[in-house]
Amino acid sequence: MKSENSTQRRRAAVVGAGITGPLLAFCLVRLGFEVDLYEAYIRRVQDIGSFLNLAPNGRAVLERLGLADRVLEQGTVAGSITFANHKGRELARNPERTTNIMRGELSGALREAATDAGAKLHCDKRLVALDGNGEDHWRIGFEDGTEAEADIVLGCDGVHSATRGLLIPDAPGADYTKVVGSGGRSEIGAGELPVDGQFHMVFGLRGFFGYQVVEPGVVCWFENHQETRERGFAELAEIDDAEWVAALAERHRPDPGVIRRILTASTGPVGRWPVYEVPPLGTWHRGSAAVLGDAAHAVAPHLGAGAALGMEDAYELALALHEHRTAPRAFRAFEESRRDRIAAMAKQARQTGAVMTPSHWAARMIRDLMLPIAIKQGVRKGTEAYSYRPSPWPAQAR
Ligand SMILES: Cc1cc2nc3c(=O)[nH]c(=O)nc-3n(C[C@H](O)[C@H](O)[C@H](O)COP(=O)(O)OP(=O)(O)OC[C@H]3O[C@@H](n4cnc5c(N)ncnc54)[C@H](O)[C@@H]3O)c2cc1C
Repeated sequence: MKSENSTQRRRAAVVGAGITGPLLAFCLVRLGFEVDLYEAYIRRVQDIGSFLNLAPNGRAVLERLGLADRVLEQGTVAGSITFANHKGRELARNPERTTNIMRGELSGALREAATDAGAKLHCDKRLVALDGNGEDHWRIGFEDGTEAEADIVLGCDGVHSATRGLLIPDAPGADYTKVVGSGGRSEIGAGELPVDGQFHMVFGLRGFFGYQVVEPGVVCWFENHQETRERGFAELAEIDDAEWVAALAERHRPDPGVIRRILTASTGPVGRWPVYEVPPLGTWHRGSAAVLGDAAHAVAPHLGAGAALGMEDAYELALALHEHRTAPRAFRAFEESRRDRIAAMAKQARQTGAVMTPSHWAARMIRDLMLPIAIKQGVRKGTEAYSYRPSPWPAQAR
């Protein structure tokens, strides 16, 4: 009788084809696993109009796997990130290179890489049940009444992970961070703003705004602001785009005029989301099933680090499964190697969020005095945060 799960049959079910899931599927196939990738949607409706800024550590993972050019083809590189206050005064500059890319495009390119490598993608498959002996056999139930089997289950199903709830029943649910995010694309006059290869972040009085001019006359932007009352995806989605953008423009009236100019020139859909984080979990696995990426440790978005952390996870977990004889051992090694880094990033994200948009005038005054120092420290810490580089890919693997 086996005391721990054997990975010999190597049938892995990866749940969720956002960012972490397809990259994990790609890595596992390359390491000899048979991989089924299950995704609840064909595409993520909440991703419409939104982009993310991929940090250098995420790019490093893609480069190590030979995927960077292909997966980030649709992205625009920013040579540095500038930070300004609500008066438009530049406070600091982070010299890190990041890549601005539509989330849907990034996810789609990763899915394509995974399926080209040999993973089987099953869309419209929402996991709702997970049964098994906990060692080496799982039966996965989907919302449409169908079932699948696997030796290893890897939950990459995001911040509201069903896998997490089923696997670790006492795990806390996601916490609303009292932040609402939105993002979109605007068209302004060509030459109105320079294509300067920089990502601009502005600490507005009542909201945080980021933008990059990705080509002449085309601007990608995001906005985060505080909302104490939690409004779910559905409630936010009901608001008309024009009404939402007008409210954001009003919110940013005291800030540099460029923000209102960009917002009022929005074209196409505007994505918006309540933002959640996952409190630290006692464990990320049970037997031969585990959660990773946002499902295990979604951090507040103030560092723009979540996607890159998910990529690090995918790479490290695949290597751990390759190196360790059993899945539980691999998961233990993975957790040990990742916990400190994730905890540090979560703390730093919270600290960054706290200085962004204080609501009281006195706190704002202190913020304005402290911001240059805080930002410079943040930039230094940010450089540490981006410093992860993946170990070499096993020579004998594909
Ligand atoms: C406002 C905001 C801004 C952000 N900005 C940045 C940024 O600039 N840079 C950055 O690096 N990160 C950013 N992030 C974080 C980043 O988006 C996440 O960390 C990243 O998407 C996590 O990837 P994931 O694959 O783990 O989860 P997700 O991307 O959430 O993917 C989960 C997938 O699982 C699927 N799924 C869910 N439930 C089920 C189920 N039951 N069965 C099957 N499939 C399921 C979903 O449809 C989805 O496709 C931001 C987050 C927010 C909220």
